[in-house]
Amino acid sequence: MNDDVMLNVPVIRQLYHWDCGLACSRMVLEYLHPVSEEQFQRACLDLEFSESVWTIDLAYLMSKLGVRHCFCTQTLGVDKGFRNQSFYKKHFDTEEDRVNELFLKADNKGVLVKKCSVTVQEIQSHLEQGHVAIVLVNAVVLVCELCSMPVKYCCFLPVGQKCFCRKPEYQGHFVVVCGFNRRTGNIFYNNPAYSDRVCCTSFSNFEEARRSYGTDEDILFIYKDG
Ligand SMILES: [Zn+2]
Repeated sequence: MNDDVMLNVPVIRQLYHWDCGLACSRMVLEYLHPVSEEQFQRACLDLEFSESVWTIDLAYLMSKLGVRHCFCTQTLGVDKGFRNQSFYKKHFDTEEDRVNELFLKADNKGVLVKKCSVTVQEIQSHLEQGHVAIVLVNAVVLVCELCSMPVKYCCFLPVGQKCFCRKPEYQGHFVVVCGFNRRTGNIFYNNPAYSDRVCCTSFSNFEEARRSYGTDEDILFIYKDG
């Protein structure tokens, strides 16, 4: 058993506010076997990607590019409970049918989807074998121990004055897990918001961010072979 695993997954920065999932896919593909930009763009075009990219879309992308994968989630389809969350509100109705249909057709399209919960130990043993995973997290909860704490969601006020800024409860974001250290209890991940670093947090913070309400505990396992 390895105490310390660090896979050499390149860090690729997202270009827009919505394409963190695509940036994560590029990182993973680059790590496995480089796919040309043309191939990548053609696959995204064929799959009719819009600015709303869900985990199931990423699973379809992997299938399209012949990459062995397994998408684990708590909900096969769209969780109706997310309708009232501001993060999902904007596109909810138009997206619901599209996403549910992707789940229904997954089997026929060679997309492997499982309804299950994944433990951090399972993620570790996956990494130990040189495989990687794209994880949906609540970016509001996930805090990197290496990056300086960003000032977010709040205004600057004179001391003693109460701030009424409301922190959003959920911000869906994809990251790529690429390593861990059992002795220090840390997990390493590539955050597509940055292009120059590997981020690091505790197992407990990672678990909280990954299991936060809104993520459905979505995780896309990617396998190095085939
Ligand atoms: Zn960081």
